[in-house]
Amino acid sequence: MPDDLKRSKAGGRRILLLLASKLGYQTRSFAEAARRLGFAVVIGSDRCHQLEDPWADGAIPLHFDKPQEAAAQLAAAVRSHQSEMGAILALADRQTATAAQAARLLGLRYNSPESVDNCRSKLRQREVLHKGGLPVPDFFVFPLTEPLDAVLRRVSFPCVVKPLRLAASQGVIRANDSAEFIAAVERIARLLSSPDVQSTREADLDRLLVESYIPGAEVALEGLLDAGCLRVLALFDKPDPLEGPYFEESIYVTPSRLSSQDRQRIIQCAAGSARALGLTEGPLHAEFRVNDRGPWVLEIAPRPIGGLCSRVLRFGPERMFLEDLLIRNAMGIPGADSQREPDAAGVMMIPVPSSGILENVDGLAEALAVPGVSEIQITARLHDFIAAWPEGSSYLGFIFSSGGTPELAEAALRHAHRALRFRIAPRLPVAHPVSGQTLP
Ligand code: ADP
Repeated sequence: MPDDLKRSKAGGRRILLLLASKLGYQTRSFAEAARRLGFAVVIGSDRCHQLEDPWADGAIPLHFDKPQEAAAQLAAAVRSHQSEMGAILALADRQTATAAQAARLLGLRYNSPESVDNCRSKLRQREVLHKGGLPVPDFFVFPLTEPLDAVLRRVSFPCVVKPLRLAASQGVIRANDSAEFIAAVERIARLLSSPDVQSTREADLDRLLVESYIPGAEVALEGLLDAGCLRVLALFDKPDPLEGPYFEESIYVTPSRLSSQDRQRIIQCAAGSARALGLTEGPLHAEFRVNDRGPWVLEIAPRPIGGLCSRVLRFGPERMFLEDLLIRNAMGIPGADSQREPDAAGVMMIPVPSSGILENVDGLAEALAVPGVSEIQITARLHDFIAAWPEGSSYLGFIFSSGGTPELAEAALRHAHRALRFRIAPRLPVAHPVSGQTLP
């Protein structure tokens, strides 16, 4: 039994269920925020329970690729405390289906299982939004077994090819002609057959989605749904052009510098998309492109912004973090209606210039001294391999800035980034110990 439950004294809805894959920074900060607010926390995770229990938190081991079974197992584990269960939160896409099923079993407020299923597959999401009359790119799906000359007859260029279920732009590639399309498909197919991806046991690793490429400025919206009503917590501009061929994120700055008309259209589009998908409760993260034809939906996800990025958002006079606000909202305690601070704020997900072993990071003190820079976190581990996009999915680290205008917040991030120097050594090909042949 999780330690928090052993200690939990009966009475009141005082237990928060947290579903997370990695027991990394984000999970820890949610758990700590909940405990600070006086709640007990039960974590459900699909990390290997036997090998990894770094905080001895007694997390319940679950297989998120089997949501019904995982939900039943979770409900059984907490059944004796059911009357004390206050809320359930899924921290990333992979856990939303289990959270929705478990919420039904435990009588907790959450999005319906159907609505989160509408978001889990990029194909399903496109189908539902298209049917609902929302602006999405033209799209079609094909199995990797289909001959590419037959697929090519259906493609218009430029297009974007992507896996159905990966996240963080992993495996998302723009192609401008047939040769680029064939190279992109081969590259994504290699990524999908890699042990790292196969071990996720995700469905749909044998099909790819093809979409028309939508030009325009990109924005991200962080919101909170309450009985189907959308409240916008922040709208971020992404000032670096994201034109491909790969789509590694870099800078997010809020508030958005788009016109108020564009911002209103984006918010309406987000609310309409959530409605069409059937989402009604809790955190919402959405991405859009905006051009002279208005906003286009790229992605809607019933979860908070990923990982460390949430630290860019501070609310109310006490500058509480997003985690605090989401927990207050889920548990129904005061403070959830706090507004984001009035100053601009920005975060840079530090790009990975090339794949290799991260040997050294220099210039940290200089970067931290840049006016407006509030924090720098290098999250990549020294002497570990880090993959650049499209194979990669994690950044070298994060730079945060705050204060003044969006222009100042953005300039501070760029200045600090220029001061940082990363030495990444190419990984040498490994010679096969017996044959002497070089392995890929
Ligand atoms: P993920 O969920 O893995 O982040 P997305 O489908 O949201 O994948 O795509 C990642 C990024 O790729 C987007 O933020 C955007 O920059 C770019 N992108 C994806 N689809 C398109 C498209 N149809 N047109 C233009 N850019 C796109």
